Amino acid sequence: MTGESKFISGIVPPAETKEPAWWFAFQGTQLLVYQKPDSVSIPCLVDFAELGLIALSQNYLGRLDDRDCYAVELAEGTALPPGMALEGLRQVYGRLDEPLFWVATRAVQIVDWDRTHLFCGRCGTPLRAKRTERAKECPSCGQLHFPRLAPAIIVLVERGRELLLARSRHFLPGMYSVLAGFVEPGESLEEAVVREVKEEVGIDVKDIKYFGSQPWPFPHSLMVGFTATYAGREISLDDSEIEDAGWCTADHLPPIPGKISIARKLIDSFVEKQKK
Ligand SMILES: [Zn+2]
Repeated sequence: MTGESKFISGIVPPAETKEPAWWFAFQGTQLLVYQKPDSVSIPCLVDFAELGLIALSQNYLGRLDDRDCYAVELAEGTALPPGMALEGLRQVYGRLDEPLFWVATRAVQIVDWDRTHLFCGRCGTPLRAKRTERAKECPSCGQLHFPRLAPAIIVLVERGRELLLARSRHFLPGMYSVLAGFVEPGESLEEAVVREVKEEVGIDVKDIKYFGSQPWPFPHSLMVGFTATYAGREISLDDSEIEDAGWCTADHLPPIPGKISIARKLIDSFVEKQKK
């Protein structure tokens, strides 16, 4: 996911540092970037205060190659330095170096978790950060609070030389994709694949194979990708979720999701396979 670069997660920042670090600063889910004509970059500074901006919180993320990385929360309405802007992660994909983009997807989730987990959900006591793992601990009742992560399956269903594509009600006009849905408590990933496909389009699947996974920070999912083979029944739509679905061949595809998504990687992989 990060090409040649290597990210090593960490909790405790270095005691003292004189080297510049990457600063992933968010106001809500908007990332602070330097805007250039065809790209964006993020601040690389020894101290975030050099920008003259106030950080409401600061979390150490780890190291990307030889640089430390921090997540920072900016106050609403902060006035930005010249040449800087706040942009959503989807907007910066393809314009920010990809290794930095994927660290930014971690950073936005840590900032959100830090901001929304101030008090113990069991007893209401202010929480404090643990130094041994990415968690907060209640000093009163001992309850641990971890960053939220919602696993979801995403599955490409094949039928011979065709694949199943569907349109959710909340997609952009005309766009189709493979099926996806959240895993329920107590369910295996494979069971979630079978249930989601059945619920959304009414068909049976078999030969479920793992494809790959991808963090999806909108807001805190982990997408686990699979392929599966059609095993019977006609398509019948769950009209609360899906407004259209059908079988397509690789040479007649409707508009599909962009390269940021594992949905696209699943579809591209299917298309490649048809060429062989
Ligand atoms: Zn508590």
